[in-house]
Amino acid sequence: MPVELVVEGALLDADGARPGYARFRDGALVETGQRGTASTRGRVRTVTGIVLPPPVNGHTHLGDAVATREPPHQPLEAIVRPPDGYKFRLLAETAAGAKRRAMRRALTLMSRQGVVAAIDFREEGLEGVRALRAAARGLGLNVVALGRPLARPVEVEEVDALLAVADGLGLSSVAEEGRATRRTLAALCRARGKRIAWHASESVRESPDDYLRPRPDLLVHLARASPDDLAAVAKAGVTVAVCPRSNALFGRRPDLAEFARQGVATMLGTDNAMFHSPSIWRELEFAYVSARLARRPVPAEFLFRAACVVPHEWLGVPAAARLEPNGPVPPLALRLPPDDPAYQVVARATEHLIVGTGPSRRRERPT
Ligand SMILES: [Zn+2]
Repeated sequence: MPVELVVEGALLDADGARPGYARFRDGALVETGQRGTASTRGRVRTVTGIVLPPPVNGHTHLGDAVATREPPHQPLEAIVRPPDGYKFRLLAETAAGAKRRAMRRALTLMSRQGVVAAIDFREEGLEGVRALRAAARGLGLNVVALGRPLARPVEVEEVDALLAVADGLGLSSVAEEGRATRRTLAALCRARGKRIAWHASESVRESPDDYLRPRPDLLVHLARASPDDLAAVAKAGVTVAVCPRSNALFGRRPDLAEFARQGVATMLGTDNAMFHSPSIWRELEFAYVSARLARRPVPAEFLFRAACVVPHEWLGVPAAARLEPNGPVPPLALRLPPDDPAYQVVARATEHLIVGTGPSRRRERPT
């Protein structure tokens, strides 16, 4: 017997919010329409809620999940700078199996939260990406692994081996990787149809003339970017992943109101798993509340798009951000009041509100 369910309330996707219903069969969306017009005419269990494309975590460092204690009260640089910051010492000291298990726990958590993909910056060269792939096996989560080659100057053989298993490269900051290195690595990625990304303007303002040359596929942070910088990024059409909780821990804040005003393609990420749980729902709420706290409110709709629309576009699957029957990924249904849907999702969503739309999923056990 197929499991059938109607979720009636609001539909929220790339086209915005509208009242409506979605009918699911075995977890797949098979029909949408106006409230009260479902073809099953009340013969199928109906719950009130909001239906939306599943979220994507736009920026993680899942290897950091090995650290579970309060992060040291030190400047960010002292913690995350390669090769001898706290984080890199910890990664070097931790056995491969323990790192793999920590990453699997983080991935399992994200999966239970309804996240369908994560864009991860995986340090530690080829072995780092291999460990991430092993940790993600069987979870059904699309892990976009952006690896980091270890040798400087760049060794083409190492990069080739890395790109054979990674989806691209995720570099440290533009301050740490000079333009010549970035150019070489970007050219290697382009030639192999892979993506390249780096961090920029996190602790101090850096110039778009620097971080947009060569043009990356993705920038991370821009917490210190000026309105003109953001205008340049928007004009270049480069997507930015922002991580408000991670920035806040070090006294910084991306001005998301300005990101929205300038039309920057923005994704939301949870950054280093040593600082926070990789929960996209917590990140959404914090992004909204911290913007209100700074008296620079950001529209809830913009944040919803940063978690549930823009990343699908960046991944090259824009249809995943639309609620259409038999789409590329099953939508998510949340047991939330259907008024002001984007606000509900941003301010109130948690994994506990996910409506099971298909046969109960196999429990994923961390290895
Ligand atoms: Zn990062």
